[in-house]
Amino acid sequence: MENEIKNNLLNIHNSIQQTAIQFKRNPADIKLIAVSKFQDSAKIQAALDCEQHEFGENYIQEWQEKNKHFLNYTQKINWHIIGNIQKNKAKYINNNIFCIQSIDSVDLAQEIEKKAKLDKKINVLIQLKIDETDVNKSGISQEKSYALRDYILQSNKLTLQGFMGIGPLESEMAKRKELYFSFTDHALKLWKEIYSTPTNNPILSLGMSTDFTTAIECGSNMLRIGSAIFGVRPS
Ligand SMILES: *Cc1c(COP(=O)(O)O)cnc(C)c1O
Repeated sequence: MENEIKNNLLNIHNSIQQTAIQFKRNPADIKLIAVSKFQDSAKIQAALDCEQHEFGENYIQEWQEKNKHFLNYTQKINWHIIGNIQKNKAKYINNNIFCIQSIDSVDLAQEIEKKAKLDKKINVLIQLKIDETDVNKSGISQEKSYALRDYILQSNKLTLQGFMGIGPLESEMAKRKELYFSFTDHALKLWKEIYSTPTNNPILSLGMSTDFTTAIECGSNMLRIGSAIFGVRPS
């Protein structure tokens, strides 16, 4: 199992390297988040042993257990929450979380401000809806995203670092590419209205196991990869 995870990580890093060069990107600008939802601690440990330090979890309760298990590694692990957060879970959020990627409403941002146990600001990404025609997918619409951005900017508990998007399940690569490019465009528009210095770029968290090369082509600088690292998730 350790060897498999090691090989998977090596292959993914190679692929990131090649794709970045192909699209004239700097490979060092592209971060890899290992999505460890439903995976056990032994697998996370195996990835840690391969110098993988960024991990993504979907569920606050599952994250709490894993955080407890790896408390001795807090210097080595950055936890990212990437799943839909129910408002009644906001009180469990604390600074052991490095970044919350799934802020998709002003209500949720407000609830985290009120209830989270924070002793310093916490990094957040705005989750933008990728496909405006798909009503079932989480994420905030482009129209409402301005108000959420402005709310986070005036917050003294949340630090806006960028944007996250989840690709549509079904669509073929050409359609996906179009949606990803439009995600990047809108995210950069939201960002550049506030930060105009060319060196200050937002995080664009986009791309999973099956589409991360397309995401890199479309400007992603943070990939969230689960099954291609850890194997099929136990359910
Ligand atoms: C599960 C999940 C991933 C990883 O998916 P894989 O297909 O296993 O790479 C990425 N992002 C989010 C938001 C997820 O829920």
